[in-house]
Amino acid sequence: QAKEAGKNRYLPYQESMQHEIERKYMLENELRHALDRNELQLHYQPQFETATGSIRGFEALVRWIHPVMGAISPAEFIPIAEDSGLIVPIGRWVLREACLKNKQIQALYFPKSVMSVNISAVQLLSGGFTEMVAGVLHETGLSPASLEIELTESMPITSFDSAIPLLETLSGWGIKLSLDDFGTGYSSLSYLKRLPFHTLKIDKMFIQDIAKETGGSAITEALITLVHQLGMAVIAEGIENDEQLRCLKKWNCDCVQGYLLGRPVPFAEVPGLFQVKA
Ligand code: C2E
Ligand code: MG
Ligand code: MG
Ligand code: MG
Repeated sequence: QAKEAGKNRYLPYQESMQHEIERKYMLENELRHALDRNELQLHYQPQFETATGSIRGFEALVRWIHPVMGAISPAEFIPIAEDSGLIVPIGRWVLREACLKNKQIQALYFPKSVMSVNISAVQLLSGGFTEMVAGVLHETGLSPASLEIELTESMPITSFDSAIPLLETLSGWGIKLSLDDFGTGYSSLSYLKRLPFHTLKIDKMFIQDIAKETGGSAITEALITLVHQLGMAVIAEGIENDEQLRCLKKWNCDCVQGYLLGRPVPFAEVPGLFQVKA
């Protein structure tokens, strides 16, 4: 009996591992058909210039609405797409759709709109990435200066080394490069200097610490100053309250993005963001 109990002790853990593996496998199979079945869509979250409060552009965020399971978070399915290679066709679709929609936004509402698109390291380093980007820009007629590529800082530094020539090509065309989730990954500030990024996005983790008595404010303020001294612009993400916005203004953070200012919305709701409020 003791033996039995001993064996069972490990079951809950094994079972949850098993469930996790099964769910991953199932999601991967479903994700294989997501594009063909039109289950993917983009939401657009506005980004604002801190000083003036005017719109700068949007970040495109992918959504997967499965007919049976409902909405599945990109935090769950993007890693699966990366592991399976599905990120290549999905990422191409995202880029094309985001560029098309930005072209429409520019024509109808805001000529200077910049569209930020998240790109996975796997996608960037898969063959033919720069050619794919050039093709999409050509096809959609969007100017390179109206496109910003966001790369997450959590990609290993060795990947950044092999990515440098690609990033330089993209930057040479006038595409803006932004380092996402800054502060959560590996890159040191000295390393940053060697990478051709124009913008750095301070992760929401730091923004959440603002105004808490933990020294978080001092770190964020110092970060903004340092990034400016390295010649880059700063976007703060995850602004949820007025106090955070007030501090970021005071510290000359260039752009802001967050639920306080605007949630990610489907394209149909984008025009409303340009309507003058009475
Ligand atoms: P991210 O690029 O750092 O995007 C910001 C995330 O924060 C988004 O989550 C956004 O909805 C959320 N967010 C925005 N404002 C606030 C706020 O005020 N408070 C809080 N708590 N959250 C806020 P989402 O859309 O769930 O995306 C999660 C991550 O998935 C993204 O993080 C990005 O890394 C990845 N992702 C999303 N779309 C794509 C895509 O098209 N391609 C790739 N490769 N990755 C994507
Ligand atoms: Mg992003
Ligand atoms: Mg990210
Ligand atoms: Mg981020």
